Amino acid sequence: MPAMQADLDHAATTPPRPEVLEVLERWMRAGNASARHLVGQSARRAVEHAREQVAGVLGCGPHDVVFTSGGTEADNLAVKGVVWAARAERGGAPVHVVTTAVEHAAVLEPARWLAARGEIELELVAPGPDGCVSVDDVLALVRDGSDGRAPTALVSVMGANNELGSVNDIAGLGSALSEHAIPLHVDAVQCVATLEVSLEAWSADALAISAHKAGGPQGVGVAVLRRGLAVEPTAHGGGQDRGLRSGTFAVGLIAACGEAMVRAAAERAAVRDRLLVLSERLAVGLAAIDGVERSGPSDPERRLASHVHVMIDGVDGEALALGLDAAGIAASAGSACSSGAASGSHVVTACGLSGAPLRLSLGWTSSMAEVDHVVEVLEGLVPRLREGGPVVGLDRLGPVGGGR
Ligand code: PLP
Repeated sequence: MPAMQADLDHAATTPPRPEVLEVLERWMRAGNASARHLVGQSARRAVEHAREQVAGVLGCGPHDVVFTSGGTEADNLAVKGVVWAARAERGGAPVHVVTTAVEHAAVLEPARWLAARGEIELELVAPGPDGCVSVDDVLALVRDGSDGRAPTALVSVMGANNELGSVNDIAGLGSALSEHAIPLHVDAVQCVATLEVSLEAWSADALAISAHKAGGPQGVGVAVLRRGLAVEPTAHGGGQDRGLRSGTFAVGLIAACGEAMVRAAAERAAVRDRLLVLSERLAVGLAAIDGVERSGPSDPERRLASHVHVMIDGVDGEALALGLDAAGIAASAGSACSSGAASGSHVVTACGLSGAPLRLSLGWTSSMAEVDHVVEVLEGLVPRLREGGPVVGLDRLGPVGGGR
């Protein structure tokens, strides 16, 4: 197997920035941030500093920030926590939840789990063929409870789709929902690297963030839960983070998360501009291959600069994945966060797309050489797969130059 030569899978995870690793290393030996002794207090200051860093980047107050183990836990806390609090207010009666058919499993699965237990009435908004969700379609489903039906306790719409990179009009949705006083949760995991994320500007009540999607370490994230939003904890214990997320603070990971968010925000505009050039070059190169069509919104404003998703006609997705792997290219057919499988993507199905899906995603380390390498490999691989030829030997194209 060739050494990994081109990382086109930043949507799955990004390499951590060196400055972030330094902070992680420095605080990995921290004391318990809840202890009263000096060592504990020093650790606590690192946690509170990170909280302020994160709040500054996410347009919220430090008291709104709850550190989690990542995006999945943040999504679960928002979905289950808000539902449980709303049900408690209604004497245990079920409530209504609106989300979309293209959410990440971290939102869809807790919502389905709650629905299967009879705790919520769940409605999923279908996306357009470009993966975007219409604000009007969401608003058409919300209920105020005046007609006797279960009232809407939560709307959850992702900021940007992890597979297609489609960007939703969250600010428009947030301002409309706040008129109805219905809480809005936004899975903003894919946004942080290239888009501004703001609880306040979006008029949102909850956000989910994951550090490893924006130059931070894996295993840490943030649930922004606006103070005043009624939320039940999903885990009970020592009562850390407003009692919403018990457990010893992971000081090193939290400090690194704060640093990663600050770096991501500081470099966001420059990274975005660079990735727009790279993704355009990638998209143009891929579109020139027979039977390859770009998915997602045609309006570049509605697309993440980091994502190029294509559907490829007449090839087997599994063979495509194997061929790319054999050529030293990390890419994702479907969502790498779930199975990494070449087919069966609920997003592709919901958008009514056909062919073999391929997501190529860029990030802060991406280079022109990587982009050109993947185009060159696919120019050879796609026709070869269509003819039923072998997928090995593509690594003979040689190593890609430049940085990872
Ligand atoms: N939400 C979205 C949109 C994602 O893309 C991912 C991971 O890819 C997650 C949630 C889960 O985040 P984590 O890996 O931090 O649990």
